[in-house]
Amino acid sequence: MKEDTKIIHKGRDPKSNHGIINPPVYHASTIAWGSVEEMKYRRDHRWEPGVYTYGRHGTPTHDALEEAFAAISGGYRSVAVASGLAAINAAMLAYLKQGDHILMVDCVYGPARNFCDNIVGRFGVETTYYDPKIGAGIKDLIRENTKIVYVEAPGSLTFDMQDIPAIAEEAHKAGCVVIMDDTWSAGIYFKPFENGVDVCAMAATKYIVGHSDVMMGLITTTEEQWAKVRPSAAALGANSGPDDVYLTLRGLRTLKVRLDRHMETGIKLAKWLQARPEVDRVLHPALPEHPGHDIWKRDFTGASGLFSFVLKDEFPESRINAMLDGMELYAMGASWGGFESLIMPANPAGNRTAVEWTDKGQLIRIHAGLEDPEDLIEDLQQGFNRLNGND
Ligand SMILES: *Cc1c(COP(=O)(O)O)cnc(C)c1O
Repeated sequence: MKEDTKIIHKGRDPKSNHGIINPPVYHASTIAWGSVEEMKYRRDHRWEPGVYTYGRHGTPTHDALEEAFAAISGGYRSVAVASGLAAINAAMLAYLKQGDHILMVDCVYGPARNFCDNIVGRFGVETTYYDPKIGAGIKDLIRENTKIVYVEAPGSLTFDMQDIPAIAEEAHKAGCVVIMDDTWSAGIYFKPFENGVDVCAMAATKYIVGHSDVMMGLITTTEEQWAKVRPSAAALGANSGPDDVYLTLRGLRTLKVRLDRHMETGIKLAKWLQARPEVDRVLHPALPEHPGHDIWKRDFTGASGLFSFVLKDEFPESRINAMLDGMELYAMGASWGGFESLIMPANPAGNRTAVEWTDKGQLIRIHAGLEDPEDLIEDLQQGFNRLNGND
């Protein structure tokens, strides 16, 4: 079955559901067992689809989303958790104990860095941040006690690319697990498990939900890692609610057509920005000028609508604020992947320790939504007018 068909057909079976196209939403805490024998059976098989023991451990509604997403992303199985951050944390905690070491990419999503430094860091787990460009050179940083090599590409805010197959090869030689945050490509434009990733954690909150109204995380693993990760996710108690799971599944059905449009508009905006005299550089891996473009072309089949650009270092803060505050179509806010366009100033410098962020101009992150691209460009044009003091 091709990917587009999987997106539509996996995780639902109208024939077993009165012909109704979408699966029902099961609300559950208690799930009654018919007998002691059945109780034992269900407990022994509780991480298998179709076996239910307690609301926290999933329902048929969860199975539907998990089965669909595992099939689409090419993993063995998935588990839906309360948020993208919960997915990252549960994936990492499956492998860590006191005295262990994590190799973490320097351009990682900020709250994942916080989790390493301020949560597991308090329990005697050490983290070393590495240059996203490290490739096979990761082997020099792997220690006896390194358990996790963590990758995220393109990197949060700065869109650095990583040679994930090369990193994974070295990590596996040393017996480390490779965990990836694949939120940007949503399991569509990058196939983690074909590129050496063992465990994929992502914010379904972004593109899969797609409508800015649900928090959701998905952890997907290879067959080998499932038995470690699934109980870890359950033990943390950060389960997802059935209504949110249902909405995530609904978003998933239109994921590919939305993503393709986000990509098209994102590239249009990126190229337009690249030609602006106020812009120092555009950080979008689909542009040939991007330093990670070759890796993107080799490993990815598309780009989402999220990218950044850096202004030249000649605009006062008040002008930059006027530019951003006056946008008509772009909302300013955290998260992305919804139908609407977003714009946000950010400063990566505080979140980099391995490679210093040396750009002096203001970084601005854009999420290209599903509006008409010409309207989005016009809104940016007005923004540049305000930036230049011509408002
Ligand atoms: C938003 C985001 C997360 C966290 O997802 P939440 O659902 O907000 O917890 C993780 N990784 C990346 C790259 C993100 O952008």
